Amino acid sequence: MVQSAVLGFPRIGAQRELKKVTEAYWSGKATVEELFKVGKDLREKNWKLQKDAGVDIIPSNDFSFYDQVLDHSLLFNVIPERYSKYNLPAIDTLFAMGRGLQRPATESSPAVDVTALEMVKWFDSNYHYVRPTFSKNVEFKLNSTKPVDEFLEAKALGINTRPVLVGPVSYLYLGKADKDNLELEPISLLEKLLPVYAELLAKLKEAGAETVQIDEPILVLDLPVEVQSAYKVAYEYLVSETAPKLFLTTYFGDVTPNIQSIKGLPVAGVHADFVRVPEQLDEVVAALSPSQILSVGIVNGRNIWKTNFAKAIEFVNSAIAKVGAERVIVATSSSLLHTPVTLASEKKIPAEIKDWFSFATEKLAEVVTIAKAVTDGSESVTAEVAANAKSISARETSSITNDTAVRERVAKITEDQARRKSPFGVRLAAQKKALGIPLFPTTTIGSFPQTKDIRIFRNKFTKGEITAEEYEKFIEKEIETVVKFQEEVGLDVLVHGEPERNDMVQYFGEKLNGFVFTTNGWVQSYGSRYVRPPIIVGDVSRPGPMTVKESKFAQSITKKPMKGMLTGPVTCLRWSFPRDDISSKLQAQQLALALRDEVQDLEAAGVYVIQVDEPAIREGLPLRAGAERDDYVNWAVESFRLATSGVDDSTQIHSHFCYSDLDPNHIKALDADVVSIEFSKKDDPKYIQEFSEYPNHIGLGLFDIHSPRVPAKDEFVSRIADILKVYPQENLWVNPDCGLKTRGWTETRASLQNMVDAAKEFRAKY
Ligand code: GLN
Ligand code: ZN
Repeated sequence: MVQSAVLGFPRIGAQRELKKVTEAYWSGKATVEELFKVGKDLREKNWKLQKDAGVDIIPSNDFSFYDQVLDHSLLFNVIPERYSKYNLPAIDTLFAMGRGLQRPATESSPAVDVTALEMVKWFDSNYHYVRPTFSKNVEFKLNSTKPVDEFLEAKALGINTRPVLVGPVSYLYLGKADKDNLELEPISLLEKLLPVYAELLAKLKEAGAETVQIDEPILVLDLPVEVQSAYKVAYEYLVSETAPKLFLTTYFGDVTPNIQSIKGLPVAGVHADFVRVPEQLDEVVAALSPSQILSVGIVNGRNIWKTNFAKAIEFVNSAIAKVGAERVIVATSSSLLHTPVTLASEKKIPAEIKDWFSFATEKLAEVVTIAKAVTDGSESVTAEVAANAKSISARETSSITNDTAVRERVAKITEDQARRKSPFGVRLAAQKKALGIPLFPTTTIGSFPQTKDIRIFRNKFTKGEITAEEYEKFIEKEIETVVKFQEEVGLDVLVHGEPERNDMVQYFGEKLNGFVFTTNGWVQSYGSRYVRPPIIVGDVSRPGPMTVKESKFAQSITKKPMKGMLTGPVTCLRWSFPRDDISSKLQAQQLALALRDEVQDLEAAGVYVIQVDEPAIREGLPLRAGAERDDYVNWAVESFRLATSGVDDSTQIHSHFCYSDLDPNHIKALDADVVSIEFSKKDDPKYIQEFSEYPNHIGLGLFDIHSPRVPAKDEFVSRIADILKVYPQENLWVNPDCGLKTRGWTETRASLQNMVDAAKEFRAKY
């Protein structure tokens, strides 16, 4: 019989139980017992859910109070001294490493003040993991028995799970050396780490685990040779009499460039992501020995669409034809961590569209059905397959997914539409004349503090407790306050402050055709921070202006230039669940055309500076170098240019980037007149050089907007002076790292005043 397998299940709870109790614990409102109890209940609920759905291979140790990679750091004692020195209870060390900890001394314990470890994107997903950080004197040892405990917990419920571990090669490679030892290559620690894995595996075997899922997702990356060759060393060491069988899992991409690393490993089987890369089937099969099992990842762990049963069954059958049914498992493509928990609580999505979706809970039934179909024949699941075919075809033929006007407009896109009328030099001259912007111009990135008042009013408005007019009046008043403030501190290019926006993507999604929103579709982003991504369901178009009213009003109350504020096409796409029935490129083009209209409407309304934010452009970059990556850069750049090139030379286009290390060439290709980039925390002096050749104007973020700390005027002066050693003064803008929405007014006022005063000092000099 072909078994069904799940690689991991969301741990946050259908009602965000984990967030609620974790945050309560942090603020002292829940005890550690209460915290653990909620964790235990969630695990039990998830196991039972999977069991009841009929899943054969159910994961354990996929639960975490913060992050599964961080759990491994605690497990293996990879705890830098600045955390371990406090001798906190393990759970508090975990949180301190994940999010930092600052607390005053008490009678029984000294003061604690420690920042968090670095947090980075989990491959190309929107999940972030806490980066293992290896210091000089790291001493690996088994520090806890979490995977064993959770295995036993499930066993006590009568559920024999397959524990999940991050494999040793991926664990090391995803980490970095600590500041005390920058030349350390983490992979060189492999031999020291392996005995600890072996000890853990032995404990799991003793507890009764038959097989362990060992995740080696880095196998989908471009790997240095010493990492490729580490696999043989690691797995020949780990596979033994005293260990459970090991099932090697990869996901999110193509393993074939690293297939030599997999071939010949003594593992029981290999899992690959055939949703992402169906073409890799033959090569993966060819790499297996006759006794190894193939786990076919065919139910998408990264998106919310119903699996096309007919196609999935056909694909799994083609795998069976190659290796035989006794060697095939049907599985989710990756952990389901990246999908919302359940569709059941969604009451507001129109029934027609809801029928196209499958969240984590619904995906359980999908793996089970596909496994049954390939075991007993499609006849055994006729009803399921028929219902599925109906949903799939309804979606395919719906007018929501096929808007002829939108398709025709995309087909007519010309190269010219993605080019400004004149080169930068000509535009700059026109802008200087039209806008009267001084040297060292000061500006902000868009949002101003989103006060409690603003959130209360927005909620009231969404709930229908106040009228549209009342809400509008309130927003106008907020805009007035922000504009007046900016004039007082002496900023040069003003913003309206974005008080009307809940979120930089959702706000636009709600005003566009082609999006739907969940009420409870939360997905973990990091720690207790969850996001609720909009879903792109259909062809995207703009029924009417989205931001013109607010920007026009803001411009009408000041003589200074007002900067219109939009979210770019790539960021709208990346921070939503995208469609899987048309290409990302086509979705980006549709978004770009909608934004192009908005940009032109802003210009027509007298807003001559327009910023189009693209903070997500870097994270969309395909994991491997090569054709796919080049293609992405091309369409990402083109869609930004398509959105922004419809204006006159004298209209100034800005763009903004944060969250990642950018490639200056990609930014250059966008041809924005001014870019602002996050910069203040880059301690690497090389980074300042990176953009020094940037031909247009640039603002390097001068202060960290995540912190309430107020830099003094002199600090700004010395930062600008440093930058001026490398950059020509006439190119330089003066601005913070990012928007100020999470800040309070007190520090916002003080920081911006100091920043403006510093700019004025330079202006007087040159
Ligand atoms: N304009 C947005 C803001 O200021 C930009 C946010 C971002 O880049 N993350 O809030
Ligand atoms: Zn930003």
